[in-house]
Amino acid sequence: MIVETFVQTAFQQNTRVVSCGVTGEAMCIDPGEPSDAVQNYLRDNGLELRAIVLTHGHLDHIGGTAALKQEFPTAEVLLHAEEEDLYTSLPRQPLLMGIQPHQLAAMGMDYEDPPKPTRFLEHGEALEIGKLKFEIRHCPGHTLGHIVLAEHDQKTVFTGDCLFSGSIGRTDLPGGNYDRLIASINAQVMTLGDDFKVMCGHGPDTTVGLEREMNPFLTGQYQLGRQ
Ligand SMILES: [Zn+2]
Ligand SMILES: [Zn+2]
Repeated sequence: MIVETFVQTAFQQNTRVVSCGVTGEAMCIDPGEPSDAVQNYLRDNGLELRAIVLTHGHLDHIGGTAALKQEFPTAEVLLHAEEEDLYTSLPRQPLLMGIQPHQLAAMGMDYEDPPKPTRFLEHGEALEIGKLKFEIRHCPGHTLGHIVLAEHDQKTVFTGDCLFSGSIGRTDLPGGNYDRLIASINAQVMTLGDDFKVMCGHGPDTTVGLEREMNPFLTGQYQLGRQ
């Protein structure tokens, strides 16, 4: 498994191109913005983009979907069904963040409607990219239809905005729920082995073991708004 990371948007989101070293098939997880760097990387390395996979529908994770799909039209666009409303709301998301309509173009946020999903990912299914097999796990709490992708042979999980190094995703946005997020992380991420590498939607990589030991949201050291 080869993972190339592109840090994108003002939110410093980790867009990943994940490819099979044997077959050259690839997927892009969370294309944050239209990006020549991503397209050139795929072409220069002769990779076949099979899928654009979205952990969830926030603009910093999906803003590059339309451009990438246009360049690689055979790539599937995949996300969880419970995330469809957020995904299709892309052109309106900046306005909900308080950005004024006349500022959208200057900020690179004048989004068009994103392409229709090819199909929806289901909890427990295995997404195959070449010889790689990614187990899809529904992990709500940051948003309703957030997913994480676990590759068991490679001992790697892509956690989007559920779990970060030393932190967790926001739960104050629409669809967010703190208790649900903690329960999701415990059930869907912490049940993987301690030696699993965690590749997060923002910030550095970590491991399940390190987070079990150090993450104040998981050790019980820090409980938001609780006694
Ligand atoms: Zn998010
Ligand atoms: Zn994010």
